[in-house]
Amino acid sequence: MSGCDYVALAAEGVRALRPYKPGKPMEELQRELGLDSIIKLASNESPLGPGSAAMAAVAGCAAGISRYPDGNGFALKQALASFHGVPSDALTLGNGSNDVLELVTRAYVTPDNEVVFSEHAFAVYPLVTQAAGARAVVTPARCFGHDLDAMAKAINERTRLVFIANPNNPTGTWLRAGEMDSFMASVPESVLVVVDEAYFEYVDKPGYESFVGCLDRYPNLVVTRTYSKAYGLAGLRVGYAVSSAAIADVLNRVRQPFNVNTIALAAAEAALEDADHVRRSVEVNRSGMRQLTAAFDALSIEHIPSAGNFIAARMPRPGSEIFQALLREGIIVRPVAEYGMPDFIRVTVGLEHENARFIEALEKVLGNR
Ligand SMILES: *Cc1c(COP(=O)(O)O)cnc(C)c1O
Repeated sequence: MSGCDYVALAAEGVRALRPYKPGKPMEELQRELGLDSIIKLASNESPLGPGSAAMAAVAGCAAGISRYPDGNGFALKQALASFHGVPSDALTLGNGSNDVLELVTRAYVTPDNEVVFSEHAFAVYPLVTQAAGARAVVTPARCFGHDLDAMAKAINERTRLVFIANPNNPTGTWLRAGEMDSFMASVPESVLVVVDEAYFEYVDKPGYESFVGCLDRYPNLVVTRTYSKAYGLAGLRVGYAVSSAAIADVLNRVRQPFNVNTIALAAAEAALEDADHVRRSVEVNRSGMRQLTAAFDALSIEHIPSAGNFIAARMPRPGSEIFQALLREGIIVRPVAEYGMPDFIRVTVGLEHENARFIEALEKVLGNR
């Protein structure tokens, strides 16, 4: 055995890191409880699965995987550039949008910097901030959502980066374009603002707009999108950032040369064309959201209005306890105590029969039947 403490040797920010806790995999629950029918509503994946165009693309490129992928993702970037009406050099592809969130932090944030984000915001923001050895400035939430006034006030000369999830996970809260514009106007151009639009496709709220169209106005803006949610490609890991060409240039310098694999590139390009599949995902989500909120209302369970494909609901007992009890019924949801919401669980909107089984199990667990 070595006398050397390899944990103590790690960089300061890394030493204190705790790994991101993903939703419990179905296979794990199957092993533990021997249940044969398990429903996972824990990671905001699409209950519809991938579209047929994406699956055909996956099969079609399998024979090519002895070659390295196109490190510049030329074809996917061309497709995204025309989809968004932006130049191709505004794009940075990532191994999921998580990769891009990390790239921005790695490229711009030093241990002398501060990074501003909101209470109850996406768990990856504190992780990447800490890994960079920087100070996280967490502003209190307003009605569970981002308080942009508080966030603007938290910015000082050490601030290099602000994360905004719009809509936010796990709360489902969203910000209107007008609020976002006033906020951006108050942020110095030397502070990068990442607007994480992972759930953009699902939003149907008045006043909500994507910020991809605002890049001309805000040179310090980075908008991130993902294929993991409405497109149904979470397992392939592909996402991207849209930004000024200067910022994209920097992000593309720090990323790994082949950070998006051949199969992911092909599937993402095909999925982008398959607008019908995204539309179906959104429709299934809309009716599933109605189903879940109606059930919560009937049970007098408080829930946070959500613009995403998930919903956070307040439980009469600790969320971790409800989570455990639901596991025994074969239902995986997400406890969110680590997001500062110990009374809540977060449920991904599933297919109609999955939602129905969740509701039935919840009623049983709560002693209502
Ligand atoms: C799910 C999610 C993502 C997507 O992560 P990927 O790495 O693209 O799978 C990004 N941001 C938020 C807020 C999310 O909830």
